Amino acid sequence: MTIETTKRRIQADRAAFMGYEVRCPFDGTTVGPRFVTREHLDVPPNPPYAATVRCPKDKELFEVVFRV
Ligand SMILES: [Zn+2]
Repeated sequence: MTIETTKRRIQADRAAFMGYEVRCPFDGTTVGPRFVTREHLDVPPNPPYAATVRCPKDKELFEVVFRV
């Protein structure tokens, strides 16, 4: 796996994400629920456990996986 593909999937606490404390892995911009493009209902039983986010600054797409 290259660094590029690793960057596209980060892990975060759900509470931190909701509080806009999670940073874009590409430029460090803080992101949160407002920038979610898609929530993933397919990982563990109580959804959502992951979300696809688009950084508002560099427009990079990456996946935020919430720690259980
Ligand atoms: Zn960014």
